[in-house]
Amino acid sequence: MRWQASILLNPYQVIREYLQGFVHLFYPHICLQCGMDELSKEQIICDDCEATLPYTHFDEMQNNPIEKIFWGRIHIQNATTILYFTKDSIVQKIIFELKYNQNKNAGYLFGRLIANALVNNPNYGLVDYLIPIPISKRKTKKRGFNQSMLICEAMVDHGYKVPIFTGLIKSKNGITQTRKNRIQRASKANSFFTLLHSNKLNGKRLLLIDDVITTGATLENACLCLLASQPMSIQIATVAYTYH
Ligand SMILES: [Zn+2]
Repeated sequence: MRWQASILLNPYQVIREYLQGFVHLFYPHICLQCGMDELSKEQIICDDCEATLPYTHFDEMQNNPIEKIFWGRIHIQNATTILYFTKDSIVQKIIFELKYNQNKNAGYLFGRLIANALVNNPNYGLVDYLIPIPISKRKTKKRGFNQSMLICEAMVDHGYKVPIFTGLIKSKNGITQTRKNRIQRASKANSFFTLLHSNKLNGKRLLLIDDVITTGATLENACLCLLASQPMSIQIATVAYTYH
């Protein structure tokens, strides 16, 4: 039977299946969390582990901790994050995959999680542009991609039928943020980001996307830059929140 079945496949398919089996033997495709090996090609954690991730549900909460980060700093419409980020957790493992193991599937997972949580929420679903937080050219080259862009692309694949705006770019000689206090940072906002085609954003509803939020300084600087285009509103969604 097996022999008959393989006759129906073309030789390339047969060779590919053998090679996939061979690769699986040495590099098993297993869930990062529990080790279970029945995953689809794009999955990096299994369905059960995905269901038990530490979801924040902040999108259902007014004045949630992410919005409070920006109080007194900058006016944004809504802000949320999908997951709690704790040390040595599965969320940290997935972020590590995304940033240091060039694992695009980690970005696709995060984009899908954001889209599933937010696309039907009028506060975050009704937007005109998704805007990924940019990273430097050097980092993009090293990593092979901008992780926030991957997340945005996955959001488009999972219900966000809006364009991704790529005119927010990282400035060349931005000074390291940790060396400056908040007031200095705010006044130097335009040294971190540059906005191209800003007229496109005039009067539009923007959803700004980043992977991890800690102090909110990067997002604050990005918002200051975007505000120059006089958008109708700015929403923020990140994947994970490092709280103290
Ligand atoms: Zn699992």
